[in-house]
Amino acid sequence: MLIKKLKIGVLGIQGSIIEHVNALEKSDVETIIVREKQDLNKIHGLIIPGGESTTISKLLERFNLSEKIKKKVKDGMGIYGTCAGAILLSKRIIDNNGGVKNLNLMDITVCRNAYGSQIYSFVDNIDINELKLKMFPAIFIRAPKINEIGKNVKILAKYKNDIIFAQEENLMVSTFHPELGDKPDIHKYFIQLCKRS
Ligand code: GLN
Repeated sequence: MLIKKLKIGVLGIQGSIIEHVNALEKSDVETIIVREKQDLNKIHGLIIPGGESTTISKLLERFNLSEKIKKKVKDGMGIYGTCAGAILLSKRIIDNNGGVKNLNLMDITVCRNAYGSQIYSFVDNIDINELKLKMFPAIFIRAPKINEIGKNVKILAKYKNDIIFAQEENLMVSTFHPELGDKPDIHKYFIQLCKRS
């Protein structure tokens, strides 16, 4: 099938939605804010933004979106979770006392708020050799840590000893927020992943 223009969805129920739309619009793709089940029929890839994973997980259930997202990902749709989005994509959450109902898709174990509360949020420049990026400003806001990964998960970047960016076939996560900086490279990498999926 000839695809005229790739359509990338941004889950539009809570968190840094517009910032992801703005980052995607630096590339030649159409963006769709996903709020209803029908929106999922139109897209070739989906971003789950950062925000509050408990809230997003509750709203995913209330809007009846979880099962359809899971099916589309299992059928090969590209998906990228940033921060809270990474928590939602994970298969395992350590000490899940907030009761996040994760989508159970990517073979990673995460720990929420692993750097501490809001005052321990920070920015640092990182090299992402896998994407040939030097001094990429990585913004961490009440970020999770990825404590374990399955054997099919590829590490795309580390910060000190922590895995902060990873991919498992059509699934991608970062514990930082590229949409809050002005560099579109990670979004462009995700778009390529969606083209291949
Ligand atoms: N700490 C948040 C959570 O656990 C995630 C923060 C973020 O997405 N910036 O849901």
